[in-house]
Amino acid sequence: MTANHLRALILVSVAVVIAVTLAGAGVAFLLGAIAGATIAVLFAAAYLLRPLQAVRDDAARIAAGDLGARVRLRPPGPAGQMADALNRVAERFEEQMETASEGQSRLAAALNSSVDPVSALDREGRILFANIAFEATFGRSLEEIAGKPFAYVLADEDVVDAIRASREQGLRKISIIEQSGHRFYQVVTTPIAGGGEWAVLIVFHDLTDVQRTEQIRRDFVANVSHELRTPLAALKSVVETLAEGALEDESVALDFLRRADAEVDRLVQLVEELLELSRIESGDQPLVLRETDVAALLAEAVERLRPQAERAHLNLTLELSPGLGLAHIDGSRIERAVLNLLHNAIKFTPSGGDVTLAAQRDDGSLLVQVRDTGAGISQSDLSRIFERFYKVDQSRASGGSGLGLALVKHAVEAHGGSVSVESAPTRGSLFSFRIPIGN
Ligand code: ADP
Repeated sequence: MTANHLRALILVSVAVVIAVTLAGAGVAFLLGAIAGATIAVLFAAAYLLRPLQAVRDDAARIAAGDLGARVRLRPPGPAGQMADALNRVAERFEEQMETASEGQSRLAAALNSSVDPVSALDREGRILFANIAFEATFGRSLEEIAGKPFAYVLADEDVVDAIRASREQGLRKISIIEQSGHRFYQVVTTPIAGGGEWAVLIVFHDLTDVQRTEQIRRDFVANVSHELRTPLAALKSVVETLAEGALEDESVALDFLRRADAEVDRLVQLVEELLELSRIESGDQPLVLRETDVAALLAEAVERLRPQAERAHLNLTLELSPGLGLAHIDGSRIERAVLNLLHNAIKFTPSGGDVTLAAQRDDGSLLVQVRDTGAGISQSDLSRIFERFYKVDQSRASGGSGLGLALVKHAVEAHGGSVSVESAPTRGSLFSFRIPIGN
C-alpha cells in the first residue's frame, strides 16, 4: 500500500462518516463510525510505515560502521530513491575504508621493514604502533604494549620529556640512551602533523657500533701514548744522567748508551708493529702468496730463536709430521706469526722449561702449534688475549707492547684461518693456528 492508497482510504472513511451523519443516524452511531475509521487509518499507517522502518534499521547499521550493510528493501516512490542514495553512500564508505586500510597496511609494512625500532603514540602518549624491530629490541609484543604509556616500555626520563615536548609543544627532540646490554641509541621523537590518531613518532638509531669505534680509537691513542711513554722516559733519564757527568766515566757512559740503544730498539719495534697493524687493518698489505716449503720455514723460525732460548735455558724442540710439503701461503707473514708465538713462549717460560713448535697437515689445513711449560694464562684473560695492546699482567715486565698476538691473528685470518689458545695458570700454554691449504 502506498501513500495514494492511504489518502483514498482516509477520504472514503470521511465520506462514510459524513453520509451516515447526513442520513440522520444517531450520535452514537456517528461516534462508532469515527472510531472505526480511525482504527482503519492507524492500521493502514502501520502497514505503510513497515518498509520505512526496515530502511531506517539498515541505515542505522550503515551509520554504525558495518561496511557490508546495505538497504535491502526498495520501497516504490521517494522512499525507494532514499534507499538507493543510502546504498550509494554505503558503497563509497566501504571503498574509502578499504583504501584507508590498504594505506595503513602499506605504512605498517614499510615501518616493519625498518631495522630501526619505531613506535607511534597518541595524543596522550599511549602506544598505538610498534614495528617488529621495536618488539625485538624491547622484548615486548605490540599486542602486549598497545594502549600503554610509553614509559611502560622505556622508563627513561629524557625520552619521556622528549615525548611530552613533541606532544604538547610540537617539538622534534633527540636524546641518547644506553640500554641494558650496553647498546646505545639515538632516540628521535617527532610530532606527526595530519597523522590522525598518530600524534608522535619515535625512532631509535642504534649507535652502538659508532660508540664502540669511538671507544676503540680513544683506547688506541691512550695505549700508544702509554707504550711510548716508558721507553721515552728511560731515554730521557739516560741522557740526563750522561749530561750530569756520567759521560766523563767511559765504562759508565757505555753502559748508559747500551741502555739507550735497547730503549730505541723497543721504540723502533713498537713503531714497526703499529705500522704493520695499521697497514693490515687498512687493507694496504695484501698477502704475497707463493708455494712455500712449510718444514723449511718452520725450521728457520726455530733456528732464529734458538740463541734466545739457550740464553733462557729452555729446551726448544721442533716436531714436524712427515709430508708437510708445499703450501700456497705468504711465507714471510706466517714466519713472523710463528716467531711471535715462539718469542712469547720463550719470554713467559721460566728457565729449565720446554718450548715446542709442532706442525701437521690435517684435513686440508695446516695446523701449527706452539706449546710451552711456562706461566700460563688465566681463563678470564684468554678471551681477550688476541686484542691489540692486551697484556695479561700490566706489571709483568715483559717489555712487550701487547701487539704481537693481534698481528698473529691478523696474519692467520688473512689466510682464511683461525687462531686458538688453551692455557691455565702455571700449567703452560698451547697456541694453535690452522690455515686451509688444500690436500
Ligand atoms: P707482548 O708483546 O706483550 O708479548 P702479545 O700480544 O704477544 O704482546 O701477548 C699479549 C699478552 O699475552 C702478553 O703480554 C702476555 O701477558 C700474554 N701471553 C702471550 N703469550 C703467552 C705465553 N706463551 N704464556 C703466557 N702468557 C702469554
